[in-house]
Amino acid sequence: MTPPAEESPVQKIPIAISSCLLGEQVRYDGGHKHDRYLTGTLGQWFTYVPLCPEVGIGMGTPREPIRLVQIDGGVRVRGVRDAALDVTDELVGYADTVADQIADACGYIFKRASPSCGMERVKVYTGQGMPSTAGVGAYAGAVMRRFPRLPVEEEGRLNDPVLRENFIERVFVYARLRALLADPTPRKLVDFHTRHKLLVMAHNQQGYRRLGRIVADAGSGELGPTLDAYADLLMETLTRRATRRGHTNVMQHLMGYLKKPLDTADKAELVEVIDQYRSGLVPLVVPMTLLRHHFRRHPHPYVHGQWYLEPHPAELMLRNHV
Ligand code: SF4
Repeated sequence: MTPPAEESPVQKIPIAISSCLLGEQVRYDGGHKHDRYLTGTLGQWFTYVPLCPEVGIGMGTPREPIRLVQIDGGVRVRGVRDAALDVTDELVGYADTVADQIADACGYIFKRASPSCGMERVKVYTGQGMPSTAGVGAYAGAVMRRFPRLPVEEEGRLNDPVLRENFIERVFVYARLRALLADPTPRKLVDFHTRHKLLVMAHNQQGYRRLGRIVADAGSGELGPTLDAYADLLMETLTRRATRRGHTNVMQHLMGYLKKPLDTADKAELVEVIDQYRSGLVPLVVPMTLLRHHFRRHPHPYVHGQWYLEPHPAELMLRNHV
């Protein structure tokens, strides 16, 4: 069931990260926001590229705290105590300064709620009443605009098991996608797509069909634009969360490959377990484990090549959610 080892991504995948999450004392008050899940559990699979934009633009530590402020229809990053301090352009420009380091990464984990690093829902002060939470950190926004395919997430959202699995799955797919883009041929694109079909199908049927059409045309034009369109749509499609309905469809599809080898009792058990997952009674790992078990006993070449049944290391226990 496990795809051939030589085609697996390297064990440690480079991930850019807000430095304070690794325990580096770079926050405005000289503190840090060490996240043990990131350094402990994920650190076994990821090698981190720490980046602190506020230190990077020369603000020093400790430093004047900053915040997002709504001014004249735009949002600026200003000092909390010193309103004359405006570091918006420097923070946006820092995304260009470190672009080469980010280009080597297969994901980015941002510190939530930061006026520099926050990915979403950052407080924006208007000068009157409660701040809105519609802001994006100035640096994080620039990174996401420059690298729209890059899987991004915040450490707070990684506490949600579904979002966590979604991010880590995207990181592993992105690592394989980068390997394809580094040395592409039409045939390799077809092979890549074939092996990711069921994974994509669990996320979004429409994206799945559109990706299939792009690949079908791969031999008829220039490969570069085809690859760009494919890579953009693939990463966009995987950003949508795989739903229980999507997983149920894929697992029922997989059952079709077991029709002949399984006896009536085994088939009935599999149908029941998938239905229990569909109803929210058991976590995804339960039908997945049963499917893997059956495909180990009754291998099928198409299913064997699919990343769907093992999209990330089992040790991360990412499919324990209902
Ligand atoms: S949130 Fe970003 S800018 Fe703030 S300390 Fe952490 S890495 Fe530096």
